[in-house]
Amino acid sequence: MYISGDHSGKGRYLCTKCSKALYLEDSFDILPLCPECGNQQFLVG
Ligand SMILES: [Zn+2]
Repeated sequence: MYISGDHSGKGRYLCTKCSKALYLEDSFDILPLCPECGNQQFLVG
């Protein structure tokens, strides 16, 4: 489980509420809030 603001690293993350997929392109990117529902919790997808 990853939370918005984490330096979670490159990869694909799925919102735990709406299953929206986010892609982080850079290992220095910070996980944002879900753009669809504002959720802060993500799973690696
Ligand atoms: Zn969401």
